[in-house]
Amino acid sequence: MRKYYGSLQYCRYRICDIHVTDIDNIERSDLTVTIECTNSGRRNTVRTKSVTLADGGFPAWPLVQPQGSFQNVFHSSQTLNRLNALNLAPEGDHVFHIVGSGQSSADTLAYLAGAFPNAKIVMSYRSYAMRPEDDSHFVNELFMPDGVDTVFNVSGEWREKILKDYWHVTHNGVTLDLLPKLYEMVYYDRANGENRFTFNRFTEIVDACETGKGAVATMKNITDGTITDVFADVTILATGYDRPCEHPLLEGLSDYLETDSTAQIYTMNRDYSVKMRQPCGFNVFLQGYAEKSHGFSEALLSLMPERAATIADEITTLELSAAGMVA
Ligand SMILES: Cc1cc2nc3c(=O)[nH]c(=O)nc-3n(C[C@H](O)[C@H](O)[C@H](O)COP(=O)(O)OP(=O)(O)OC[C@H]3O[C@@H](n4cnc5c(N)ncnc54)[C@H](O)[C@@H]3O)c2cc1C
Repeated sequence: MRKYYGSLQYCRYRICDIHVTDIDNIERSDLTVTIECTNSGRRNTVRTKSVTLADGGFPAWPLVQPQGSFQNVFHSSQTLNRLNALNLAPEGDHVFHIVGSGQSSADTLAYLAGAFPNAKIVMSYRSYAMRPEDDSHFVNELFMPDGVDTVFNVSGEWREKILKDYWHVTHNGVTLDLLPKLYEMVYYDRANGENRFTFNRFTEIVDACETGKGAVATMKNITDGTITDVFADVTILATGYDRPCEHPLLEGLSDYLETDSTAQIYTMNRDYSVKMRQPCGFNVFLQGYAEKSHGFSEALLSLMPERAATIADEITTLELSAAGMVA
């Protein structure tokens, strides 16, 4: 039902080099969306009653320093572009350090091991080992429209339990067919005495810096608190993706958009609109931000058409009803 393909080059395309810089409201009735042309800097605004935000989220970055401050330390979403820019010799005896144990880490390990056959690769992760995602048949019914209804309609307590019990359906798991290939590669590497691969269990990155030669990652052992430096030519943070609340584009609407008690999740209706704190004449729909209410299908492609249809139907109904064409 679900298919995973390489995650190394997850580019953000901006159609016609146009991006949205702001979403705000006019007197409770309408929204204004500010659009900027990246090349010319020209700005325009669109006035609307409904906006759908489907921006794909943001690379999760656990370091204090901003992403742009490093040459040799970057997020896995930038792997191919950044390696290209570094112009490393394929036959060189480089050292790569991958942080994380999910699908992106596993893909990055497989790619680097093949593209740089003489490189040493260190992987550091919080867990004991990479483990498979749960892609089993019965569980996959979470990716059916009525799976979403089931998750959405149970009490908050049960929803939390479902999300906890089935976390490895989409999070921090690796496709079942890739794991034996990686293990075989590591097994023969050890058997041949090459020892190209090192796995640091129970560690997380707490800091990084660059020297003239490469990157130094400060790693903390989460079982005993000890700190170790890992030196590498390149450190790749395969640390996943965030869908923040509050979303930077929605800051101007924070008086309206309802969040849960932690203020870290938008409260969502089944039709993917955000619940409003106070009456207003506009609607904000989110695509990809409703995992905590709608379940794991939210972050994947399986139900994309169904989600899009639900949102489009709701917007059409709202428009028709505003025009007095729906009873
Ligand atoms: C590494 C990786 C691998 C994945 N593999 C799979 C898989 O195998 N199977 C699967 O089902 N799902 C997979 N997914 C999930 C899948 O990619 C998402 O479910 C899907 O892409 C979400 O679609 P979207 O249109 O909401 O967001 P995206 O596809 O991310 O599109 C977002 C768009 O919004 C644009 N944008 C962002 N900000 C602005 C702005 N301010 N103004 C204008 N435009 C903007 C971006 O440029 C981009 O074009 C993967 C995700 C990742 C990160």
